[in-house]
Amino acid sequence: MSLPPLVEPAAELTRDEVNRYSRHLIIPDVGMAGQKRLKNSKVLVVGAGGLGSPALMYLAAAGVGTLGLIDFDIVDESNLQRQIIHRQSSLGQPKVESAATTVRDINPLIDVVVHNEMLSNENVMEIFARYDLIVDGTDNFATRYMVNDAAVLLGKPYVWGSIYRFDGQASVFWAEHGPCYRCLYPEPPPPGMVPSCAEGGVLGVLCASIGSIQVNEAIKLLTGIGEPLVGRLMIYDALEMTYRQVKVRKDPECPLCGKNPTITELLDDYEAFCGAVSDEAQQAVQGSTISVNELKDMQDNGEDIFLIDVREPNEYEIVSIPGARLIPKGEFLNGNALELLPQDKKIVLHCKSGVRSAEALAVVKNAGFADAVHVGGGVLAWVKEIEPDKPSY
Ligand SMILES: [Zn+2]
Repeated sequence: MSLPPLVEPAAELTRDEVNRYSRHLIIPDVGMAGQKRLKNSKVLVVGAGGLGSPALMYLAAAGVGTLGLIDFDIVDESNLQRQIIHRQSSLGQPKVESAATTVRDINPLIDVVVHNEMLSNENVMEIFARYDLIVDGTDNFATRYMVNDAAVLLGKPYVWGSIYRFDGQASVFWAEHGPCYRCLYPEPPPPGMVPSCAEGGVLGVLCASIGSIQVNEAIKLLTGIGEPLVGRLMIYDALEMTYRQVKVRKDPECPLCGKNPTITELLDDYEAFCGAVSDEAQQAVQGSTISVNELKDMQDNGEDIFLIDVREPNEYEIVSIPGARLIPKGEFLNGNALELLPQDKKIVLHCKSGVRSAEALAVVKNAGFADAVHVGGGVLAWVKEIEPDKPSY
C-alpha cells in the first residue's frame, strides 16, 4: 500500500540547495519534486536522546525544511555512548541546545525549532499541530501513549521506535490508514516488569539502526514514495543480525482509533495510566522508606540490618553501597529470595533509584517481614549524598 505524499512541494530550490541535495535529486523516485516536498516539511522529533540523535541529524542532512526538537533533559556523561548528537563539550547543556547546535552545523539551510520543555498533556496537542509528522524517540511508556493519543486525535502519522540491549522495533502508526500504538499494545506493561534503557542498557549503535529506519520511513511518508511501515512492525535483533516483520492489524475495538472509541481526548494522567510503580509497591513503601542518611546512621551505629541490593550483577559491579549483598529483584518476584532472608534482622532493600526496591519490598512485606524498609533514591542518592567520589550511572 503506497500512500500519497504528506507534503506539497515548495516553489523552488535555491542554488545552494540544489548543490547540497544533488545526490537526492538524481534519484528518480526523489528528484526535484521530492526534495521540494522535504523543503516544505515540518517534522518534530520527540526526545533528543538515543533515537532522536541519528533521527535529527539525518532529517537535517536530508533537507527537512522545518525541524522541531523537544526535550527537557541536560546532557550527561552517560548519554555520550549512544546519543551522538551531543559532544563532550556540551556536557551540562540542555539537550535541545546541544542538539540544535549540531543540527545547524550539519545543515544551515533549514529552520530548527527548539522546544526546551517536557512534552505534557498541556502542550502536546498545540505543539504537534504545528508539524506534518512526528518522530517518536521517547524512552518511557507514559510519553509513548501520550504521543500516540495526541497523534491519533490530531489525525497525524508518526514514526515510532524502541530500543533495548540488542533489540529494536520500529513502525509507523497512522490511524487513518492503519493501526495505532494502542492497537498493538492495548495495555502498558505492568509496572516494574519492563526495565528501562537506564536499567537494562542499550548497545549504542542500536540507536543508529532503529533511528535510521525511522528517518527512512519519515522521508517516504513526506515524499509519498515506497511502501510505508504502516501496519507492520519491524523487529531487529542485532546479535542474530535479523530483521523480522510482524503484521499489525487495526483493532476494530481499539478504544482510541476503533469503531466506537471511548478515548476521545487526552488522558488526565499518563504517568498514572502506566504506573511507574504498582499499587502494591506504593502501599508497601508508605512509612517504610528511609533516606540514605538514615541508612548511613544505622550502619555507623552498628544496627543489626540485612542490606540487600536488588539490582542486577552488572550494576552492582559498577557501584555498590558498602555492606550490601546482591539479590536481584527477579529472585523476589519468583519467591526464591525469601528463604535467604534472616528472621532476626531488619531487612533493608535498595536499588538504583527506589523503584525496583519498592516492588521487592511489597513481596518481602507480604511474606511477613513487617519492619522491612527500602532506601528512597537508592544508589544514586547514596553516591550523591554519602560517597560523591564513587561513579554514578
Ligand atoms: Zn488503535
